[in-house]
Amino acid sequence: MLIVKSIARMQQLSLGLPKPVVLVPTMGSLHEGHLALIDRAKKLAGRKGFTVATIFVNPAQFGPKEDFQKYPRPFKRDCRLLQNRGCDLVFAPAVENMYEPDASVTVTESQLQTVMCGVSRPGHFTGVCTIVTKLFLLVQPDLAIFGEKDFQQLTILRRMVRDLNFPVGIIGHPTVRESDGLALSSRNVYLSPEERRQAPLIHQALREAEKELRRQSVSRSALENFIRRQIGQAPAARVDYVAVVDPETLLAKEPSQLPVLLATAVFFGTTRLIDNVLVK
Ligand code: AMP
Repeated sequence: MLIVKSIARMQQLSLGLPKPVVLVPTMGSLHEGHLALIDRAKKLAGRKGFTVATIFVNPAQFGPKEDFQKYPRPFKRDCRLLQNRGCDLVFAPAVENMYEPDASVTVTESQLQTVMCGVSRPGHFTGVCTIVTKLFLLVQPDLAIFGEKDFQQLTILRRMVRDLNFPVGIIGHPTVRESDGLALSSRNVYLSPEERRQAPLIHQALREAEKELRRQSVSRSALENFIRRQIGQAPAARVDYVAVVDPETLLAKEPSQLPVLLATAVFFGTTRLIDNVLVK
């Protein structure tokens, strides 16, 4: 497995990689969720193609009070995990090489980012769109894989690729979970043992809401309240938002019309966890 830190070297290599080139962007601190994306990339690349993972903790997508400094960075361990899964190349540029000190160009999606996580994390999705654009230009992938756990991110990146005519296919991959339902996340390590015990209630609440809407006709606001009440059973949980939306437009939608996305963000202490269920 090649480990590339230099931007110039990545640009040079990207000109001659065997196709299809399949990209998995990450911020490192890898878990089985990320590695499932690598497995998927390997399958899509086939025997002839090439898989690239990127590891870059992107300061532009963290708010001033968020966890950029303390975000875990176990780089050697990450490389070992990627190598064991058969990844062909890791691109891990340094922050100071990725962003000029006076960088003044960004990529902003202006509709889908006005709801859900975009409300509590202003600027976050511009950070995401800008870094993914840069990674697409540097790696020149044919396909790129993103997790459905970050459903809004996936939706926004699909829109970006459509509106800016990037020649990259976006593939969504299902959320990988612990056996108790908690979505795997690099941020789960921040949870205290008691918070970790309560955190599976997030997914349980979304699943119960799915059952509820399949069982009987229920309005959007009733369903949102239902989810809030369910999550409220975890004493340490503080709900940031609950959304019942159309999975393409992310606009509020009555759940009588499927498909509908049930999505939430929940604080446990200062740790913010997100999850969603797509009801088709
Ligand atoms: P991150 O390192 O958190 O930026 O995540 C990198 C990629 O992995 C993103 O496309 C995420 O959506 C995806 N991802 C993170 N956690 C999971 C999970 N539990 N299941 C599937 N994909 C995930």
